[in-house]
Amino acid sequence: MKLIRFDEGRIGIVAEGDRVIDVSDVVGPDLPGSPPVAMNRLIDMYAQYEPILKKRALSASTSLSLDAVRLLAPVPAASKVIAYPVNYDDHAREMGQSVRAPAQGFFLKPPSSLSGAGEPIVLPAIDASRRVDHECELAIVIGKRGRDIPREKWQEHVFGYSCLIDVVVRGKEERVARKAFDTFCPMGPWIVTADEVGDPSRLRGRLWVNDELRQDANNRDLVLDIPGMVEMASQVMTLEPGDIIAGGTPAGVGPIKPGDRVRIEFERVGSMVIGVVQGDSGRGPLFRQPA
Ligand code: MN
Repeated sequence: MKLIRFDEGRIGIVAEGDRVIDVSDVVGPDLPGSPPVAMNRLIDMYAQYEPILKKRALSASTSLSLDAVRLLAPVPAASKVIAYPVNYDDHAREMGQSVRAPAQGFFLKPPSSLSGAGEPIVLPAIDASRRVDHECELAIVIGKRGRDIPREKWQEHVFGYSCLIDVVVRGKEERVARKAFDTFCPMGPWIVTADEVGDPSRLRGRLWVNDELRQDANNRDLVLDIPGMVEMASQVMTLEPGDIIAGGTPAGVGPIKPGDRVRIEFERVGSMVIGVVQGDSGRGPLFRQPA
């Protein structure tokens, strides 16, 4: 099943022919002014909701065109976005890094950096010479709470997958600060449940800026594989339903600028095109200097 958040925080499923069926009445929509936890709840209670949603998909009398809705971050109230920074050899080489994810571990991006397929990347108003890069990554969405999850049990804890762009200001400041701006974590266009993807260890992922292919890689080249990422993160933190793991980027990272259109695609997962605009936020001492 393909699950979306759209418009004012409604929950939908995407059926045949890219038709959106609003299932907010089943799940309960996000409420204005409250933390947007509807998708977390759906993920947590999916075993109960799945048969109801499948029935609705077959019987719904009304649907919307996917093109006519505004796609939002699928799970904006993820308790954490766990990101593996050096998880492809070719990317480690292009960055001059000698360590790899199994020894380096992970960092966190704030959930406030999440945005959806219908929202642009908003570049901050920092020093104009600073480079803001795209990183093409697979998002792994956690379905079931767990701590110290052994790699053999990874599938019990993975709910689904999505495309994710890890946007970053290059430089020497703390990594989190450089990767935490609002809209620096576009994710979407939907969450596709794990049963529709099957084995995620051989997925091709690509990213284009405008029509230029910048990144083209396959998950088989991950240094730390998906079971290993679930295992490692859960050795440190309790993973919760809706938590997101960004699996790391291959070689080919490069700058984005206002007016660009960034397309990301993972086979059997989906694709989305994200615009890039210049924003007014972000002025201050931290990124005033050239890198
Ligand atoms: Mn990354």
